[in-house]
Amino acid sequence: MIPPIASKFVAGESPASALEHAAAQNRDGVKVILNLLGEHYDDPANAAADTKAYRSLVRDIAASDLDACISVKPSQIGLHIGDGEFRSNYRSIVEVADEEGVFVWCDMEDADTTDITLDTFEELAHEFEGGIGQCVQSNLKRTNDDLERLADVPGKIRLVKGAYDESPDISYKQKSKVNEVYRADLETLFDSYEGEIAVGSHDPEMIEYAEELSSEYDRPFEVQMLMGVREDAQRDLAAEGREVWQYAPYGDKWLSYFYRRIRERKENVLFAARAVLGI
Ligand code: FAD
Repeated sequence: MIPPIASKFVAGESPASALEHAAAQNRDGVKVILNLLGEHYDDPANAAADTKAYRSLVRDIAASDLDACISVKPSQIGLHIGDGEFRSNYRSIVEVADEEGVFVWCDMEDADTTDITLDTFEELAHEFEGGIGQCVQSNLKRTNDDLERLADVPGKIRLVKGAYDESPDISYKQKSKVNEVYRADLETLFDSYEGEIAVGSHDPEMIEYAEELSSEYDRPFEVQMLMGVREDAQRDLAAEGREVWQYAPYGDKWLSYFYRRIRERKENVLFAARAVLGI
């Protein structure tokens, strides 16, 4: 059972609790992206088990009235075992999602995986005529070129700043530089991406800039934020008519995810300390 302190960031351990969480968010106008926690599998049995779990989750979402979709991690569905394993597991999830009308996102992991992840997105998005979306990271120096290459790929692109600590040869390290590049990547998306745009950021300045571009280009976009982060803003944006999706992880591997959320921000450390001390 997940302790109350972690349940701010994690939607329970079971698919049923994740779906319950999605229903509660939907009542506030916020749509939900469900992610089964798990990554870096070297054993094909683990990748197969999570692939099966996602296929089942897709059917559960389709059988409900929920505004929900899923997001998978490449290393969770076989990338560390081999490109072929990843491709075939991903395809088997997208096949059922396509039949059931449920959208599938793919997270972006460390920079060694960018090529195969983007190649697979391109291949499956053309084959299934959209229905899938790919995350890209502005901290990577290559991303603006990638966006130009992906311009005519159907589906959606989620732009994030990037969570992985990459080498300075291939990535921007300074926060201000990443912000500058994030804005430039947003411009590229609004200017030339033919699919739909998702702003995966809690940063009010990035969301405001996307609003400006949205008016200038007369194109919509969606905002995506993590469960437990700026949830008031998620509800407020949704109430103002913006499409908002909350990324909500669930599953029994919640501990390391919870630590990551706690470590990344001083306020979260204080929140955790207060919860433990009961003050
Ligand atoms: P930051 O630069 O961290 O913060 C900017 C400003 O945002 C802050 O000054 C503050 O005003 C506000 N803010 C940020 N966090 C908080 C908080 N906890 N509470 C209150 N205000 C806050 N990364 C990947 O590498 N691959 C992925 O696949 C991926 N998927 C993601 C999916 C979603 C939906 C989201 C939201 C993020 C994802 N990320 C992913 C993580 C992302 O790369 C960033 O590490 C993370 O979002 C932090 O960057 P930021 O844009 O939110 O703003």
